[in-house]
Amino acid sequence: MSDETGAGKLDSFSRELFQELFSPAGEKSPAAQQEIVEVTDLLQKAREQDLTQPIVNLFRLLRRIRKEKGQTPRDLGVEESDLLQLAVKHQQIDEHEVTIGGRVLKALSIVEDANARAMAYMQEHPKAAPSGIELWDRIRENQERIKKVLGMKQEDWDSFSGQLRFAIESVKTLSGILDLPENAVTDIQRVTSQYRMRLTPYYTSLIMPGAVNDPVLLQSVPTGEMIDNVGEEIPPVAADHSPARLIDQFYPRVATIKATNMCGMYCTHCLRIAHIGKKDRIYSKQAYQEALDYIRNNPGIRDVLVTGGDAFVLPNDLLRWLLQELDQIEHVRLKRMGSRIPVTTPQRIDSELLDILEQSNDQKPLRVVTQINTAQEITPVSRETFRQISKRVSAVLNQAVLLRGINDTRTKMWKLCETIQEAHVRPYYVFNCSYRNPQFSHLRVPVPVGQDIIESMYGNVSGDAIPRYIATAGGKIPLHRSNVAGRAGSDIVLKKPWSGEEVKYPDASEEDHSNADFSFARYVE
Ligand SMILES: *Cc1c(COP(=O)(O)O)cnc(C)c1O
Ligand code: SF4
Repeated sequence: MSDETGAGKLDSFSRELFQELFSPAGEKSPAAQQEIVEVTDLLQKAREQDLTQPIVNLFRLLRRIRKEKGQTPRDLGVEESDLLQLAVKHQQIDEHEVTIGGRVLKALSIVEDANARAMAYMQEHPKAAPSGIELWDRIRENQERIKKVLGMKQEDWDSFSGQLRFAIESVKTLSGILDLPENAVTDIQRVTSQYRMRLTPYYTSLIMPGAVNDPVLLQSVPTGEMIDNVGEEIPPVAADHSPARLIDQFYPRVATIKATNMCGMYCTHCLRIAHIGKKDRIYSKQAYQEALDYIRNNPGIRDVLVTGGDAFVLPNDLLRWLLQELDQIEHVRLKRMGSRIPVTTPQRIDSELLDILEQSNDQKPLRVVTQINTAQEITPVSRETFRQISKRVSAVLNQAVLLRGINDTRTKMWKLCETIQEAHVRPYYVFNCSYRNPQFSHLRVPVPVGQDIIESMYGNVSGDAIPRYIATAGGKIPLHRSNVAGRAGSDIVLKKPWSGEEVKYPDASEEDHSNADFSFARYVE
C-alpha cells in the first residue's frame, strides 16, 4: 500500500483491514457471478448514499470473498483508491468517527462472538424456563379449575382473605387439584403431620399439572425426603443470632425484626423452618416494644429489616405503627421489609398498604426485599403488583435461593434474573441453600455449580441483573471466585468470567498512589 493513495491517513485497524484484503493469496478459486454482481451493486450504493451501512456491507463481502476464494478486491474490479475514499467517507459520516477497520474487524466480530454465547440461551429459555407471563393462558385455565374444585367465587379469588380462607393445607384437597402419584400422596400425608403445608389457590395455579418436579410444586409441597433426611440437628438460626426478643443481628449496622412467624405460603426450603409455619402466632405489642427498645438503645444500627415469616401478612395498622416507630429513631436511617407475598398472594397488596409504604419511604428510604426463585412465579398479576410497589419505595430487591431442579442451570437463572428485572425487581442475592436444615438437604446445589451459573451471567446479561452469590455461615459470605489470575510485572492478569480468556490489565502504580503530591497539591508551595 502506498502513501500517495492516502493509506497513511488510516488508523491501524483499517490498515490491517486493507492489508488483509489486498495481500496476494496462495490459492484462488473464481468468485461466483452473483458475488461479482453484489460487489458492483454495493460499490455503487456505497458511493451514492450518505450512509455507513452499504460501506460496511461492501467491506464485509470483500473480506469474505478474499477469505473463501482468495480473490482480492482488484480481482473483482475494485481499486484500492475506491475503497480508501469509502473508508474516509465512512469515518466522516459516523458521529463517533468510527473507522471502517474498527467496525468491520473489531466491533462486528465482538458482537458476533457475544451473540453466539447467548444463542443457546435464546433457543432454550422458552421451553426450559418459561415465565408465568409466557404460561399465562395455562395458568388461567388452572385458575378456573381450582376455583371450581374449591368452590371459590371470583371475589374470593381477588381478595387476600379469600386466598387465605381457601388456602390448601391438606394433601386431600391438593390431590383434588393436582394429579399426584398415589405413593406421593401417602408420603405427603406422612410429612404434613410434622411440617405444615400451605399453598394459596393463586400460587397453586402456577403449578403446571403433569410436570414431574414442577419448580413451583417443589417449592411448596413437601416430599418424604423432608423427614427421611435426618441429619445432624443444628439449632435454629435464632439461637446464635438473636440478642433480643424478635431481633436477629450479626452485623453492627443492620438488624432484623422477625415481626411474625406467619407466611402466605410455606416453603419446602425455609431457612426458618423451626419456627415458621408450625403454629400461627400473633405477637404482643410488648414483644415489638422490646425489639424497638433494643434498636433504640443501639445507636450503631442504621438499617432495620422487618421480616418474619412474611412482613406483609401483618395487618396494615401494625405495619404503619412499626414503620412510624422506626422512622422516629434518629439513628435508624433506612428500612427494609421482607415479603414473598407479592409472588405467592399478590391480592394482599392493597392501596392502603401502598400508601403506608410510600409515607414511610418519604421519611427514610424503604426497600422491599422479596423472594422469587423461578421465572414461572412472575405472572402479569405479580408483575403489575411489583410495578405498583416499585413506584412507592426506593427499590424492590430479590433474594433467591439456589435450589436443585428449580433454578440450578444457567438458562433457568438467567431467565429468572431477566424476568424479574423486567418486572421492576432487582436481583440482589442468590443464596446457596443452607446446610443447617437437614430437612431440605435434597434441594441443595454444590457451590461450584452455583459459581458457574452466576459467573456465566457476566458479560451476557445486563450488569444490574446479576445477583451476588452468598453462603450464610455466621453472616453472609460471598461465594464468587476471584477473576484476578495473577500479576505480570506492572499488569494484573484478569480472567473473563464468561470465557476464561486471560487479559492483561495495566495497573496503577502503588508508589504513585502513596504519594500525596498530585494535582492541586503540586501548585502549593
Ligand atoms: C441477611 C441478613 C441481614 C441483611 O444483610 P444484607 O447483606 O445487608 O442484605 C441482616 N441481618 C440478618 C440477621 C440477616 O440474616
Ligand atoms: S416465605 Fe420465607 S419465611 Fe415464609 S416459609 Fe417461605 S422461605 Fe420461609
